[in-house]
Amino acid sequence: MYKSFLIKYGEIAIKGKNRYLFEEALVRQIRYALHPVEGEFEVRRLQGRIYVDALSDYSYDEVMEALSRVFGIVGICPVVLVEDEGFARLSEDVIAYLDQAYPDKNVTFKVNARRARKNYPMDSMELNAALGEKILDAFPQMRVDVHNPDIRLCVEIRESINIYSKEIKGPGGMPVGTGGKAMLLLSGGIDSPVAGYMVAKRGVAVDAVYFHAPPYTSERAKRKVVELAEILSRYAGPVRLHIVNFTDIQLSIYEKCPHGELTIIMRRYMMRIAEKFARQDQCLGLVTGESIGQVASQTMQSLAATNAVCSMPVYRPLIGFDKQEIIAISERIKAYETSILPYEDCCTIFVAKHPVTKPNLSVIERSEEKLRDTMDEMVATAIATAETIYVTADGTTE
Ligand code: ATP
Ligand code: MG
Repeated sequence: MYKSFLIKYGEIAIKGKNRYLFEEALVRQIRYALHPVEGEFEVRRLQGRIYVDALSDYSYDEVMEALSRVFGIVGICPVVLVEDEGFARLSEDVIAYLDQAYPDKNVTFKVNARRARKNYPMDSMELNAALGEKILDAFPQMRVDVHNPDIRLCVEIRESINIYSKEIKGPGGMPVGTGGKAMLLLSGGIDSPVAGYMVAKRGVAVDAVYFHAPPYTSERAKRKVVELAEILSRYAGPVRLHIVNFTDIQLSIYEKCPHGELTIIMRRYMMRIAEKFARQDQCLGLVTGESIGQVASQTMQSLAATNAVCSMPVYRPLIGFDKQEIIAISERIKAYETSILPYEDCCTIFVAKHPVTKPNLSVIERSEEKLRDTMDEMVATAIATAETIYVTADGTTE
């Protein structure tokens, strides 16, 4: 029954020039989210509002699904738009709307008329009263309740008249792209896709880097990460994913450094390389899925040791989350099923039986000295030979 949707967004902090950028980004992200949905849609800005118009048949549920992934949307109102052809016609349209939208007439309502265009002959109070009366005439079972109505019927007199009464909650947050870009360290686990989702929710676009260690890690493990990037890109927009061959670096750490320190040193090299890609891609920070105390490499001491190699800010949006809380988000964003596929990741192969949990930075730095002669070149090779793919909600291109 609906051909249009009125998109509501939070208007705090979007004054002046910011408002324009916010709306532009929101329109772009709505188009992106609707692209895989069957049907033809137009997204337009009109007088400080955003509308989605369906130009063909479509599935209501699919559109809602798609819009529920667009950060910045606070509410989605299925709306009936009618031309101004006088009050008699308007009251007919309103009655037809209610009749269709509410098969059960045993409900209370309140009319919330608003005159955004002052040349309309009736003011809001008059409209409320006159429409209320017409509705009661048409549906005697309905009753008015001005304090706590079942139906809050909005009738807004604009260029065309907007009739709506339902608002489906949007995801909130900020439109992706309004907050710059970050480089996510994306592994095949549960945490890092959720971390990417969290920064995207605050308007940050995401590129990603994945370290694999063929032949110790399989092609399937890599495909799983690509799939996770695809899932992330439904929310975060296109993701440029760099796939780095980490085998030589890892073997050399394994060979030359104390095994208890393997994970920390490996993580430090991941951060160094991720930061190089971050600068290349104009990112303003790194993002990881770390959470305090989750594993040995995520104690405060370990995080300090990992952090010490970065000059960019490192964002850890899951820092205070328990695993169960992270899993709940992972399930909600539909990443969980993919994340728990049992393929090995590159860290699990080279893990020590007794990793240090309180690494001392100078001890770690001394261990890394042993890598000094060969590592610069290995890092340069890893970066030069990385495979970069462009991942979108529609699929992947090289
Ligand atoms: P996740 O569930 O995200 O894999 P985890 O609990 O397995 O996290 P770690 O293996 O200690 O934790 O990794 C911590 C963080 O380091 C990850 O959240 C991710 O951001 C990054 N990371 C770990 N392994 C890789 C990898 N192979 N490629 C890219 N990033 C990685
Ligand atoms: Mg992991």
